[in-house]
Amino acid sequence: MTFIEKKQDWIRKMLKQAQLTEKISQEYFSTQPKTALGEIRNLLLQRLNELAQHHHFLYNKVSVRNQKSRWGSCSGKNNISLNQKLFYLPDHLRDYILLHELAHTHEKNHSQKFWNILYNILGKQHTKQARKDLRNFDFLFYPPPETKHRSADSLSVKEI
Ligand SMILES: [Zn+2]
Repeated sequence: MTFIEKKQDWIRKMLKQAQLTEKISQEYFSTQPKTALGEIRNLLLQRLNELAQHHHFLYNKVSVRNQKSRWGSCSGKNNISLNQKLFYLPDHLRDYILLHELAHTHEKNHSQKFWNILYNILGKQHTKQARKDLRNFDFLFYPPPETKHRSADSLSVKEI
């Protein structure tokens, strides 16, 4: 097979994958109740607040946006940004992301110290399982996420 043929083969494979992702995405959203963005924001803010109070985390501001490739992020000033698509995750995975961002208010990097915060709250096994299970919801980011211009401490789809 020539280089061009190999490339065409790869492109065909990627297109097929994209079509499949689109189908999964459409089917999933068709099963979800239609919820206004304002309500989604309120529910996410409420849950973040509950978890923060319960586990003694302090954050500054929160914003809920429709990021293309991140579940959330936490800035150096402890401003938390959440993806509105968190609403469509199963509860335990949504909570994992919220706690992940809250843990960044104490530890900015993904150091062992950072993971230990999550292990203490959720348990090591649950944390690892949640990270793995989140891969099954990458399709919520259809069309595929852009990989450029990510900030270092943000939680991208590929680096949960
Ligand atoms: Zn992180």
